[in-house]
Amino acid sequence: MQYDLALTLALIQLSLFGLCWLLVAALMPQERHPALLFLLTCVSDAATAWLHVSQNGALGPVAPWLMTLGLVSATLVCCGADSFVNGRLKQARFWFGVCAVGIAAMWLPLPAGAEQVTRLAVYQGAFLLLLLGPVAWLRRGMLAEFGRYGWLPLLPFLLMSLAVAAFLLQIALQPEVVPSRFEVDPVRGARSLVPFALISGVFHISWLGMMFGRQVVTAQQAARIDALTGALRRSAFEAELAAGLAAADRLGHPLTLAFLDVDHFKRINDRGGHASGDRALAALGAVLVRSLRNTDRCGRWGGEEFVLLLTGVAPEQASRLLQRLAREIALARIPVPPGCAPLTVSVGYAGSSAGRPADAGTLLRQADEAMYEAKHSGRDAIIGHHQLGAARGRDGDGAPAVGGTG
Ligand code: GH3
Ligand code: MG
Ligand code: MG
Repeated sequence: MQYDLALTLALIQLSLFGLCWLLVAALMPQERHPALLFLLTCVSDAATAWLHVSQNGALGPVAPWLMTLGLVSATLVCCGADSFVNGRLKQARFWFGVCAVGIAAMWLPLPAGAEQVTRLAVYQGAFLLLLLGPVAWLRRGMLAEFGRYGWLPLLPFLLMSLAVAAFLLQIALQPEVVPSRFEVDPVRGARSLVPFALISGVFHISWLGMMFGRQVVTAQQAARIDALTGALRRSAFEAELAAGLAAADRLGHPLTLAFLDVDHFKRINDRGGHASGDRALAALGAVLVRSLRNTDRCGRWGGEEFVLLLTGVAPEQASRLLQRLAREIALARIPVPPGCAPLTVSVGYAGSSAGRPADAGTLLRQADEAMYEAKHSGRDAIIGHHQLGAARGRDGDGAPAVGGTG
């Protein structure tokens, strides 16, 4: 009775997790492979539970089948985890190879002189390798993506491997007490299902959590990052600008905002088609993002216009930094169609410093004005808003109005 109840509960639990994986496979196409593999694990575990029920606790005749199903479940779990972490079955040979050795140990006739316990030792050894494999090979990927939470889905593997290692030790030290046949006392059998149900619950819930966590992070990234260029989307950049200005104001730090527009970009589209323009924008975005310090921010304002937030940089110091950036762009040899001049940019910038705090709207307008001045001055130029008066001959402070980038 107790046995039946425990098995029924295990079957209900497996069915519910199976349903979850079916939904994941249907609703998250990018996670379909691991979800289907985890669904198959539920099917294999349910078959194990069904064998228990059908034999009513007398498991001797079906022992090789039960042990085979155990290995199949472990292999499916490893494949699912591998596919989730690496996007493909990177260690397929290992998973299938170890599984095949374990199954062969169960079914092949024993060589003369070998004892039944050898069969069990090889099987448990294969099982242990399958349990430790994910910890060895997938740990790094999980920790890189999920931080210390990445340990949670690996915990069931570690717990199970401890149990199997203890069993192997017992085989080594006291081979005579290891039963050669599987006769399970119904009460003990029912009790052993409790830790299995707990470990399986932790397993399925934590891997479901990782999949949902990845979805949330991906959605957040997509909302923040422009897919073509890798720069921040305009709304995300505006939020960063507001936060940067508030911090600069509080700490009395300077800050520079630069507006960058690709020169004659339309020609690239006209000569090479939109795909060619997209390639150039993607390459430019990559150069900008990788050239900035990690405290700076790069956003795509729209089309072929980018904005840069340079924290801790006063407008007077920005020219040198932006000229270095323009050199990086030139050195990157951004791909342009034949007949187009190498890609250059016109940059305008404006800043706020301790004595001259500015709001976001003012900075954007000033940087935009300076960028248009750079366009009017012949393009491929860098102009600060503070230089505009000089450029138009109003300030007369003798500062160079236009910094050529070439
Ligand atoms: P200027 O030097 O005066 O800035 O000239 P320009 O040709 O760069 O400027 P214009 O504003 O005339 O053209 C910008 C072009 O950028 C027009 C638009 O079709 C193109 N564009 C905007 N967004 C994208 C995009 O995402 N991909 C591609 N391929 N082209 C884009
Ligand atoms: Mg433009
Ligand atoms: Mg342009």
